[in-house]
Amino acid sequence: MSESRKLRMGMVGGGPGAFIGPVHKMAAELDGQIEMVAGAFSQSAERSRAAGEHFKIDPHRAYAGYAEMLKAERERPDAIDFVVIATPNHLHLPVAAAALDAGFAVMSDKPATATYDEVLELEAVVKNAGLPYGLTHTYAGYSLVREARALCASGALGATRKVAVEYLQGWLSSPLEATGQKQAAWRSDPALNGPGGCIGDIGTHAFHLVEYVTGARVTSLNAALRTVVPGRRLDDDCNALLRMENGATGTLMASQVAAGEGNGLRLRVYGEKGSIEWHQEDPNRLRVKWEGGPEEVRYAAGGYLSAGARAVTRLPGGHPEGYIEAFAVLYREFAEGLTALKAGKKDSMPETLPGIVAGVRGMRFIERAIESSRTEKWVEF
Ligand code: NAD
Repeated sequence: MSESRKLRMGMVGGGPGAFIGPVHKMAAELDGQIEMVAGAFSQSAERSRAAGEHFKIDPHRAYAGYAEMLKAERERPDAIDFVVIATPNHLHLPVAAAALDAGFAVMSDKPATATYDEVLELEAVVKNAGLPYGLTHTYAGYSLVREARALCASGALGATRKVAVEYLQGWLSSPLEATGQKQAAWRSDPALNGPGGCIGDIGTHAFHLVEYVTGARVTSLNAALRTVVPGRRLDDDCNALLRMENGATGTLMASQVAAGEGNGLRLRVYGEKGSIEWHQEDPNRLRVKWEGGPEEVRYAAGGYLSAGARAVTRLPGGHPEGYIEAFAVLYREFAEGLTALKAGKKDSMPETLPGIVAGVRGMRFIERAIESSRTEKWVEF
């Protein structure tokens, strides 16, 4: 690939009224390494065309379906380099598998698939294809999450003893799906979403954040999932106890009926000597508390931050970066990895970018949490 051109992406999902598809486009294009040139944006050909017009792409490349997109793009000299998946969960496996089989790298939104069985299938496809597969666990892209991760890895906090993660939203406090609201409708339909409601939609982000920051894996859990809103078909509120491989324990709370909450993802990690606290609604501050010492507040873009945190910072201190920039960090890493691969480098994807391993862990987490809740017992991972 010529180093002077941008990588070309084709999106599946992200049609009119969609939430995350347009965020993918903004984030992918933020650093000038990627451009969206094609898409199958909706299950309706007409709506896909309308989205293509909105995004100002060549009308011939706003396809009626993803199979058509893959077939047509393969034959173009200026074909896409990778496919982005921003559809409801039940399409993640078929789209990712078809794209990889057609020779395209994949950047998928989470959860990796709708079910645990599906993710095992996807894992095999990714391995066989030998192509990059990235998973947009957005919060891994924040510079202060990278700082928290570096602090845990440095040993400065001492061994991790306790983790408390919560992800609280309020938007499903009423039966929104019954009104036809698009995002609520598919999320509460097991056929389109998979068997884990809140635990899959946001519990997986919280779970990923715990393992990503501490570098330690969850080994067993005891979860209680419930459905608060009458008539809802999937869980909307979850509490879980965690045991981790380093002897640490933790709590994970996820809810979409926490009335009044927006996107309240908060992580606390307690080591032997000190602790850290990060809140995604105040993402440019990381609190570090030392036992017997003063509390520190580390600000994004501080020159004193770890190299990993500074590497994903674009603006000087006091100029807040947020959700789109964090998303864009994952795209920048994906683009760098894919470009290096095209230049012949093996294992080119940076280890900071979540991929199929995180995808399998996330789906296992959902499956285990449901099993634990059903049997009212601790379950091994
Ligand atoms: P949404 O309902 O807003 O958008 C889904 C889009 O997919 C719609 O435009 C729909 O028309 C399209 N679609 C459905 N079937 C299709 C098909 N066969 N071909 C092409 N397009 C099709 O949903 P959303 O809230 O944007 O969620 C989409 C995905 O992103 C989900 O998997 C969700 O879990 C994930 N998500 C991730 C984050 C994050 O922080 N990383 C945030 C929100 C959503």
